[in-house]
Amino acid sequence: MATTRRIIIIGSGPAGYTAAIYAARANLAPLMLTGAQYGGQLMLTTLVENYPGFVEGIQGPELMETMQKQAAHFGTEILAEDATAVDLSTRPFVVKAGAQTFESHTIVIATGASAKLLGLPAESKLMGRGISTCATCDGFFFKDQNIMVVGGGDSALEEALYLSRLGRRVDVVHRRDTLRASKIMQERALTNPKIEFIWNTVVEDILDVAQGKVTGVRLKDVKTDARQERAVDGLFVAIGHQPNTEIFRGQVELLPNDYIKVKPGTTQTSVPGVFAAGDVQDSTYRQAVTAAGSGCMAALEAERYLEATDTH
Ligand code: NAP
Repeated sequence: MATTRRIIIIGSGPAGYTAAIYAARANLAPLMLTGAQYGGQLMLTTLVENYPGFVEGIQGPELMETMQKQAAHFGTEILAEDATAVDLSTRPFVVKAGAQTFESHTIVIATGASAKLLGLPAESKLMGRGISTCATCDGFFFKDQNIMVVGGGDSALEEALYLSRLGRRVDVVHRRDTLRASKIMQERALTNPKIEFIWNTVVEDILDVAQGKVTGVRLKDVKTDARQERAVDGLFVAIGHQPNTEIFRGQVELLPNDYIKVKPGTTQTSVPGVFAAGDVQDSTYRQAVTAAGSGCMAALEAERYLEATDTH
């Protein structure tokens, strides 16, 4: 087996790249496993206007490409493979990626979370072209337009309330007639004059793939099977996120919602030497800039761990 590495970073969103930039500049010669699809959730967005440093914003994919170049520039070894298995019970840790096996003294987990999607064929085609999974990121593009939010949990209502300050009208489509969201969020949304609820209803199709943008949706009432078309300019899917923690299950402590548990104020997981950064350990803020910040923390903490354990 090849020499033991000092740090392996798994995942390639803003958290992973920031960890890589810091680790590379600290001479830790990081190996980053970007996953077959690099770049994380920002690859699914268009213009990012809330990442500091870009006066007029930057396209999500362009931002991620730039971060990758910056990480590589300082000496990060980048491998476009998914980590398929890890063994965090041995020292050094073992990471498998396809046919290759790596050993490392520290690991930064930055595998992010994925927004759950409806699974409609039109959804992937129109993602970023009127469909979004993040109101804070994309709401601005729908100023004074008709917006629809799908979901009945806190995320959906938070998105709807945020969007009600921007859009002309916000419809919340929920598959049942009672909300899962907390009482306080329900109260706020139900009394908001701009928000209208469409109960017992699912989105059956999103229009219009031929035009390459969202123009409307076809809705189905699940009780009566009645269909209706409704014109909308923006569709926000807010049916929850799933942290990408499957390969870490049983290896580091997870919270009941499957996110990685970290010691508050740090990126330390339940396994010394294993750090978690970005959305994989954050179900609250979920912003590119907060992910980048925690990626920086993870690299600094890994560096200190290597020094303390004399494995640097
Ligand atoms: P969630 O609580 O799991 O709610 C998901 C919602 O989406 C549910 O209403 C669910 O319907 C609906 N849904 C799921 N799959 C669907 C599908 N395929 N088609 C249509 N609808 C579907 O997720 P969340 O809202 O993201 O919240 C996650 C956690 O974060 C919760 O603990 C929440 O309290 C917390 N959170 C808190 C805040 C806040 O306090 N401000 C903000 C955001 C999130 P059913 O109800 O029928 O299952």
